[in-house]
Amino acid sequence: MSYLQFPVTPFEQNCSLVWCEQTRKAVIIDPGSRSLALENAIIENNLIIAAVLLTHGHWDHAGAGKLYADKYQVPINGPHFEDKFLLECLPDQAARFGLSAETEAYEPTSWLNEGDVFILGELTFEILHCPGHTPGHIVFVEKNTQHTWAGDVLFRGSVGRTDFPRSNSQDLIQSIKNKLLPLGQDMRIFPGHGPMTTIGIEEKSNPFLK
Ligand SMILES: [Zn+2]
Ligand SMILES: [Zn+2]
Repeated sequence: MSYLQFPVTPFEQNCSLVWCEQTRKAVIIDPGSRSLALENAIIENNLIIAAVLLTHGHWDHAGAGKLYADKYQVPINGPHFEDKFLLECLPDQAARFGLSAETEAYEPTSWLNEGDVFILGELTFEILHCPGHTPGHIVFVEKNTQHTWAGDVLFRGSVGRTDFPRSNSQDLIQSIKNKLLPLGQDMRIFPGHGPMTTIGIEEKSNPFLK
């Protein structure tokens, strides 16, 4: 497995390009806005885009989902159905920050549920439903290589905000404790914002998990 990250939107959201080295099949995870660096990396690495994957419906993660699905003629998978209300108001979300969305409202090709899997060549992403930051937030877990794309659930030293419509701070902590911590100390976590971390580091030092 290989990956590259590209900060997108004024929130420096980590859009990820992840691929299977054997098959060159790749996914774009959380394209909040268009990134020329991402598009160049796809060409330079000879990648075949298979899908756009979304952790949740916030604009900084989903704003260019439709743009890239159309450009590469691939499906959009995720988030969970509970985030439908957010994808329905993508342009409004962007406008609230004084920005123009690169998209109209859209629906993904398929919503994802707890226990679903997404196969990418030799990689298998397991889907966990982790509500709290948004009700339909999901994370993508690749157990063989021990990498998890966690969106805005867990950050290095922090957790996702819960002051948004339909956020729930109790749900968020339950999601982290019941779904993410059991992935084990060595699991690497790629958050939607900021640096990478591991479950071990967060278990030991994250003040929100005390
Ligand atoms: Zn978010
Ligand atoms: Zn975010």
